[in-house]
Amino acid sequence: MLHPQAIYLHGAAQYQVDELDWEGRKAIVKEVDVDYFTDAESKTDLKVLTVERQDEPSMSGWGEISLTTVTVLFKKVKFFTHENVGSGKVSLPEIEMSTTSFWQEFPLEIYDQINVDREKMGEVLRGMANCLGDIAPLYILCDRKDIGSISNVKAKFSEKPTLYLYDRVPGGVGFSEKIFTMKKEIYKAARYLIKSCACEAGCPSCIGPPPDNNPIRKNLAVILFDYLIDLK
Ligand SMILES: [Zn+2]
Repeated sequence: MLHPQAIYLHGAAQYQVDELDWEGRKAIVKEVDVDYFTDAESKTDLKVLTVERQDEPSMSGWGEISLTTVTVLFKKVKFFTHENVGSGKVSLPEIEMSTTSFWQEFPLEIYDQINVDREKMGEVLRGMANCLGDIAPLYILCDRKDIGSISNVKAKFSEKPTLYLYDRVPGGVGFSEKIFTMKKEIYKAARYLIKSCACEAGCPSCIGPPPDNNPIRKNLAVILFDYLIDLK
């Protein structure tokens, strides 16, 4: 992502962004030789605008959403070791997009049912969203980059833990609606992937790298997928 101080690779050379002219759509760069790359961190806010399809027994739906993304900081990551060697704030305009999304809610009682607090639930949902984002394209036949996935431990309005899989194309092109109709197959495949992955506590191939070496996040993701698969 382009932002002031970002390292941009082009033609096997490294360039640092000195100045970004957002309105004029121009980046002023200089060639540099550094041992790190930059990784921007964005926050995305999701709002459901309309509910077009709803499946109450399975607590899922599909409809129009608006996404507001703001990039807040960037990290300098060292080549090979992936050590964090610095960070900085980024001030870029918010990017807004309207598109369509599938969503899957969990009832608030789930906290007691699986005996988990909100922080852990947030970590598990992030892992599940990561896994679904990898699996869903294989079922609906699209590229990984066509689908975005977000989890929200307390969704606006419903206040329920919710997973979202949305079309990355403005307006939507039908990917997330296909996910709505194929959700059970996708959940079964995601559950199988997590269960059969050889890692102990999560890895980039299943629910993403773990914040610690505790296998509970992986176990809870399997339990929650079982819960979704068993819904009518
Ligand atoms: Zn794994």
